[in-house]
Amino acid sequence: CFPAEVVPKAPEDALFGLMRAYRADESPDKVDLGIGAYRDDNAKPWVLPVVKKADDVIRNDPELNHEYLPIVGLEPFTSKAAELILGSNSPALTEKRTSTVQTISGTGAVHLGALFLSRFYKVNGANRTVYLPNPTWANHNQILTNVGLQVASYPYFDKDTRGLAYDGMLDAIRSAPERSIILLHPCAHNPTGVDPTEEQWRAIAEVMKEKKHFPFFDCAYQGFASGDLDRDASAVRYFIEQGFELLISQSFSKNLGLYGERAGCLHYIAAPGPSAQEVTTRVSSQLAVLQRSEISNPPIYGAKVAATVLNDPALFAEWRENLQTMSGRIIDMRKALRSKLEELGTPGTWNHITDQIGMFSFTGLNEQQVANLQKEYHIYMTKNGRISMAGLNTRNVDYVAKAVDQVVR
Ligand code: PMP
Repeated sequence: CFPAEVVPKAPEDALFGLMRAYRADESPDKVDLGIGAYRDDNAKPWVLPVVKKADDVIRNDPELNHEYLPIVGLEPFTSKAAELILGSNSPALTEKRTSTVQTISGTGAVHLGALFLSRFYKVNGANRTVYLPNPTWANHNQILTNVGLQVASYPYFDKDTRGLAYDGMLDAIRSAPERSIILLHPCAHNPTGVDPTEEQWRAIAEVMKEKKHFPFFDCAYQGFASGDLDRDASAVRYFIEQGFELLISQSFSKNLGLYGERAGCLHYIAAPGPSAQEVTTRVSSQLAVLQRSEISNPPIYGAKVAATVLNDPALFAEWRENLQTMSGRIIDMRKALRSKLEELGTPGTWNHITDQIGMFSFTGLNEQQVANLQKEYHIYMTKNGRISMAGLNTRNVDYVAKAVDQVVR
């Protein structure tokens, strides 16, 4: 039934292939700068202390069972997740023009949002193209095209400054046909670590309003970028203040360290106005229909952990501290790597390492240099020169800086 011309062998996922190569490497010096998961200073996964406490609360609950969740998820999770991203006093919440569906983490939220848009967001009967930043999270392209949407890109990263390609980005958004879908990373852009400034966000919103574009925010790092949950949500909140109708995908993989538990949400926000509640009700009903046919109902455990933290003021305060620990360690590693490269007089400029924010840094290393780092120094990173800052620690940062110095010369 499935000859090779019909089902050719697909290439292995580049990131998961890299992880496999790292695991197979027997060198005691090996360093994993590939995967976007937080590691502590001993290069070990870190279960957030607040998550351990939430685990205890859940396990000691005599009512604990394994029943199905409702189709749209666990209400104490979804309602607090909406408050977390929108702000508890958001007009969108008080005016009841939000709809939240619990999803299979951020990936599932992007997928459900894309599926909804492919089914219902049409101009003159046809879907609109989704504009993605160039570069973007590797999975965006295939999630969107899998549901039949067309994708295009807008410039995002300026190779010379290793910062935002601001003018190019604005021009491309301005030139896109009216009512295009623009996918935005609200903080800690993956893979570049480059975010627009507040002023730049205001200009982006202005152009998008002019062109009646539809914003789709993919928020995978709230609280992980600056360490401050509100600050990292400010771009999303600004767009809502400006009256946009929009979608937000929200992941708890990084900020709660719930990677494998798959906790996340998709939020729909209607534009303010007399029909806002009615639109929200209709959208909610269709999201539930899509969810039912896709996964029936979402997984329970990660949602319970997140709900426990989000609903308990003491645990919530502790979570903020845990976020500071993670983002603080990453910022320290940025400083350490930059200063060691500068001490070594490594050719080039390295200020971008500390200018960039969040889990990743786009180092500017080329494919050959990346290959040499892997072959000669057992240092693993994606081909585009992206490093996961969480893979650095006080024991390996010297080694990594010296190796980078060698391959760059
Ligand atoms: N969007 C972006 C931009 C990401 O970086 C990630 C995680 N790498 C995700 C979505 C999805 O992650 P998850 O499905 O684990 O929530």
